[in-house]
This record gives sequence, C-alpha cells and structure tokens, in this order.
Amino acid sequence: MTAPILTVEDLAVSYGRVEAVRGVSFEVAAGDLITLVGANGAGKSSVINAVSGVVRPSGGRITFEGKDVTRTQAHTLVANGLVQVPEGRQVLATLTIHENLQLGGWHSNDKAAIDEVYERFPVLAERRELPAGALSGGEQQMLAIGRALVARPRLMLLDEPSMGLAPKIVDEVFTVIREIRATGTTVVLVEQNARRALKAADHGYLMATGEIVHAGPAAELLADEKIVQAYLGVE
Ligand code: ATP
Repeated sequence: MTAPILTVEDLAVSYGRVEAVRGVSFEVAAGDLITLVGANGAGKSSVINAVSGVVRPSGGRITFEGKDVTRTQAHTLVANGLVQVPEGRQVLATLTIHENLQLGGWHSNDKAAIDEVYERFPVLAERRELPAGALSGGEQQMLAIGRALVARPRLMLLDEPSMGLAPKIVDEVFTVIREIRATGTTVVLVEQNARRALKAADHGYLMATGEIVHAGPAAELLADEKIVQAYLGVE
C-alpha cells in the first residue's frame, strides 16, 4: 500500500446518549476508491461527517496527509483539499448554478476550476444562470459533485450520491465517480447501494450498528456468498 492519505483510528461518534459509531478504524491509500456500505442507520454518514469535520468525534483520531485533523473544522479541511459531497446534494436552490459553484471555491476564487467543471458537465454550463432548484435530481447531484470539484480536492467523500435517482442517472453518477478517481483524486464513497458501490471500489468496509463487521478488497467481499446473502440481498 502506498502511504495512506487518510487514517481513521478507533473512531467514536455519539449524539447525546446514542452511540452511532464505535471502534471504527481504516486506512485509505492515495488514489484509491473505497466504499463504506451497510444498512440505513449503520453509521456510515457519521463516519464521513466526522472525517469532513461536520460532526465532532467523541473518540479516536483522524489523520489526513500526515496531519491530525480530528478536531479541524470543515471549512479548514475544504481549503486543504478534503471535501464532502453531502447526502441529499444540499445545493442552494434559490442561488444560480454559477453561484453554487462559486461557493465551492469561496476560499480560492479559482475561476479556472469552475470552467473545468463546466467542461465536464455541459448541462451545468448551459444553465449557469438558472436557479439550482430548477435542475432535476440527477443534475443537482452533478452540481453537488461539481461544487466539490471546484475546491480541487485530493480526497473527496461522497454520501449516498445515487440516492433517489433513476437507474440511468445512477449509471452516470458512477461513471463520474470513476472519472474523478482516474484523475488521481482519492474517493471515499458511502452507499446503501452496496453491490454497485463494491463493483466500483478497490476496498470495501461493511458497517452494521456502528461498527465495521467486514473489510477487504471489494471483489473479495462481492465473491463471499455469506456476505452477499447477509448484507447485499438478492440482485
Ligand atoms: P443513513 O443511510 O440513514 O444515512 P448511516 O449508515 O449513514 O445511515 P448514520 O446517519 O451515521 O447512519 O446514523 C447512525 C445512527 O446515529 C442512527 O441510529 C441514527 O439514528 C443516529 N443519528 C444520526 N445522526 C443523528 C443526530 N444528528 N442526532 C441523533 N442521532 C443521530
């Protein structure tokens, strides 16, 4: 394994008395695509929200590019190349597409990065002056990904990017994720669509009730009949 870009050690996340995550440890090699999969409520979002500085861990340690970022705030992480595409897209519906993209680069004012997003997603370029709320769900997902790309992330975390989208659009989202990874960006993908995510990933981590219950090369998890039957369901 090349030097890890991200190390999570013994992570715990609690909401009041609810212990959502405990004892979660994993490493992500630079350039890899890894996925956290598991049922609704397993703790996947809590893990990546802790990594991206959106929630404060109650225990453990998170290291990004060799620096301890356990208590680093989200905006500082974004400026340092660690960016999350949140669950439910979270685009600002009344702002234009262009304004949403500008927000992704608030810290850098990187106009070239916005132009690159428009080249990658021509549909966003065509509609740049329209409010983001006028886009379809799939287009809003592309905008949410584009907004993250404007920050030129070295590590991108995506929370349920396929949620609520038609199968054809899900294909497009997975194609975009593969392309982002092919440019050298490390990707951590959280998905309930476990089979799909494992097919795209190098390594997989299967979560249940706040813990990692299986980990390994994604192809090995997919090939394990017991895991498929217990966690991935019938196709
Ligand atoms: P989902 O697919 O629904 O996002 P998940 O695997 O990402 O599921 P989390 O969202 O991390 O799981 O939730 C893990 C546990 O923590 C669940 O029991 C959930 O109800 C609880 N939880 C999550 N966020 C909060 C919160 N803000 N306050 C209280 N409990 C929360």
